[in-house]
Amino acid sequence: MITIDYNVCNRCSGAKEKRCERICPGNLITQDGDGWPVVRPREDCWACTSCIKDCPVAAISLRLPFQIEQGAGASLNASATGDKTHWTITDRRGKKEEFTLEVVKKCIS
Ligand code: SF4
Ligand code: SF4
Repeated sequence: MITIDYNVCNRCSGAKEKRCERICPGNLITQDGDGWPVVRPREDCWACTSCIKDCPVAAISLRLPFQIEQGAGASLNASATGDKTHWTITDRRGKKEEFTLEVVKKCIS
């Protein structure tokens, strides 16, 4: 499940269209009356993580499905800088594991 940390989100510095709103392939992210992003309906999110990677302040996280997390509280966070995506997995005991992947760009013709 996708969650947005409203203590971190800066509403894309007042941009009319938010980056997470623009990139979601399912058009699941909209804005409330004050310009805060909201995900709805959450059950339609297929966890593609595009919004996570595109958020400039790493305000969006993904709670791992029950089958993977084996209990409540685990999460998967991602942030992007340049051509790298940084991932942090936090298990239900709070133990963190971090890794970085380079974005591979391919042209498909
Ligand atoms: S994870 Fe993908 S489908 Fe889900 S809200 Fe983000 S961009 Fe949309
Ligand atoms: S992309 Fe990030 S900072 Fe911008 S509105 Fe969405 S959650 Fe907030």
